[in-house]
Amino acid sequence: PGLDVYAVAGNPIAHSKSPTIHQLFAKQAEQKMHYGRLQIDLNHFANAAQSFFAAGGKGMNVTVPFKLDARDFADLLSPRAQLAGAVNTLSIQEGKIYGDNTDGAGLVRDLHAQGIELQGKRILMLGAGGAARGVLGPLLEQSPKCMTVANRSNAKATELVELFGELAKKYQVTLESCTLAQLEDSGTTNSPWDLIINATAASLGDSSPIGSQAASKIFSPGSFAYDMVYGKPTLFMQQALQGGARVSDGLGMLVEQAADAFLIWRGSNLSQAIDPRAILVELRS
Ligand code: NDP
Repeated sequence: PGLDVYAVAGNPIAHSKSPTIHQLFAKQAEQKMHYGRLQIDLNHFANAAQSFFAAGGKGMNVTVPFKLDARDFADLLSPRAQLAGAVNTLSIQEGKIYGDNTDGAGLVRDLHAQGIELQGKRILMLGAGGAARGVLGPLLEQSPKCMTVANRSNAKATELVELFGELAKKYQVTLESCTLAQLEDSGTTNSPWDLIINATAASLGDSSPIGSQAASKIFSPGSFAYDMVYGKPTLFMQQALQGGARVSDGLGMLVEQAADAFLIWRGSNLSQAIDPRAILVELRS
């Protein structure tokens, strides 16, 4: 029998760092496995995933734009994937395809590793797409004081706030929504935030979701600004630095969500054998 086969599926996928990250985890944990890239045509996710698992594939990471397709493809969902309505990790459990979402846990662990505690804090989340959905639950479970979801279009932000309303109540978090345009207006919403997360795709197009008006109010020397994008200093990060905030890109989140996927596939008993922070240092060098 050959090596167990895993892959990351997306479109585009050529620049994904996931194969490198998983090979590094495999090396740390002395696991023999193959991890490749799967470029899938839009609207063909289910067929491609079906073929992958039918051919003996053991697990799949799923990235843009297929996280919702992966949710629909899975036979069973973890509670956190169900809540997020999105899946980034597929595995086989007792003959069934199991969908999970490790993005939020990855973000929270990366924040903790950078010394950022969330309890009692004020969080501003920019964006209400797949990435925002994936991390909202795990962030609320950290019991911040309040959280505002700001999106370009109003509908998606209000939908998220409704969807996560019950969880927010359980953790006694004031959860609100607004538009990005409203952030540009002066008003009480715009006193500095403890944590500002850019979960929009704006950085991919070299723009920032916020204008200079909002940036001058949102960031302060006590703020921490987190851009989920990685690989380049973004305009959002520059704005945050100008406001005196500490900044981070999203590479740590990528490594931490991969660590969880690796343990789902290869066994949680390996958690002591892997060191995501060492891999992060290696990737940055
Ligand atoms: P989606 O396509 O699901 O959502 C995109 C979001 O960005 C929407 O809220 C959209 O607003 C907003 N948006 C897009 N362009 C702009 C713009 N020019 N100005 C303001 N808002 C904009 O994408 P995802 O949520 O899946 O991904 C978002 C980002 O997060 C991507 O850059 C992705 O690479 C990154 N990511 C990083 C991860 C990591 O591990 N580090 C994990 C997952 C994602 P609207 O609703 O109005 O269209």
